[in-house]
Amino acid sequence: MRDYYEILGVSRNATAEEIKKAYRKKARSLHPDVAGPGHEEEFKQVSVAYETLSDADKRQMYDLGGEEALRGGGSFGGFGGFSAADLGDLGGIFQSMFGGGAARGPASRARRGQDGIVALEVSLQDVTFGATKPVTVSSYVTCETCEGSCCLPGTEPVTCSGCNGSGSVQRVVSSLFGQAVTTARCPQCSGFGTIIASPCKDCSGEGRKHVRREVEVKVPVGVSTGTRLRMDGQGEAGPGGGPNGDLYIEFHETEHPTLRREGDDLLTELRIPMTAAALGGTFTVETLDGPRELEVKPGTQNGQEKVLDGLGTGRLRRRGRGDLRISLVVETPVRLDEEQRELLRRLAELRGETTQGSKDSTLKRKLGDWINGR
Ligand SMILES: [Zn+2]
Ligand SMILES: [Zn+2]
Repeated sequence: MRDYYEILGVSRNATAEEIKKAYRKKARSLHPDVAGPGHEEEFKQVSVAYETLSDADKRQMYDLGGEEALRGGGSFGGFGGFSAADLGDLGGIFQSMFGGGAARGPASRARRGQDGIVALEVSLQDVTFGATKPVTVSSYVTCETCEGSCCLPGTEPVTCSGCNGSGSVQRVVSSLFGQAVTTARCPQCSGFGTIIASPCKDCSGEGRKHVRREVEVKVPVGVSTGTRLRMDGQGEAGPGGGPNGDLYIEFHETEHPTLRREGDDLLTELRIPMTAAALGGTFTVETLDGPRELEVKPGTQNGQEKVLDGLGTGRLRRRGRGDLRISLVVETPVRLDEEQRELLRRLAELRGETTQGSKDSTLKRKLGDWINGR
């Protein structure tokens, strides 16, 4: 990318007057009447450079950050991407010199419709096994009566008398080169070149109507809250028979009564009695795939985790599923009757965990609480 100062052939501290003079000289030399055809690109470069450096604010910004700063991040790649419209006032002059540019023929009434977004609630089952769900979309669809033409059936748009159908009118402006003719949008027809004399009654001449409709959404496996799905062409219909925008579906997971999601894994809790934790046993766990038996080994401690492979949620854009992680919660018995209390006392005795004669008062109190279910 050439430097703007270099393009105009001036120094970095050139005055506004010097810049103007340099531009005038360059532009004149590139004018088709002088240089012949084929200097359009060069003229454009010179004009862009002048546009920037002749404006004190833009010049300062350019000096600070160069092209990037002016164009907001550099999506603009070279002068090639420029249209006459980007040149501001100079655009009209550019057009009058080289022809072409933005105002070529009347504008089309058809414009692309806007994109839409709707939220869709999905359960862990939907996310894991996939689902097809309906969503209600409230947006524009093309008017059936006029098929997007905006005209009362049997009528057609009439040629605008203000511009004879060209959509633009010419006006004379003063420029560095003296008077120049530039083109502007015809105010009578807003640049369309035609006027809709008899608008369609069904859509008030807009070519589309606002309706509520249902759209079937195929929920992809593995989506989570915030995931968006784009449905091409399912957004609102454009005005004047223009193409549809896209529809975005944003998923929101509903809460499951016993399962909690963590990435592709599911977490749940299994409460087991103290006796089973000590002796071992078999329990039933609710999973997305129905109930599953779970072996608990003798001597299981509170907080231990068991994993059921492949019983988590489905994975987004990947095969397979996450795991189900079960956290074991050992429940201490409460509300013991006399016999149960006696049995536990006996057990404590056999294990040497008796509170009788223990010198450790903390342990004594703790065990006492435990046995009495406090
Ligand atoms: Zn209509
Ligand atoms: Zn017109």
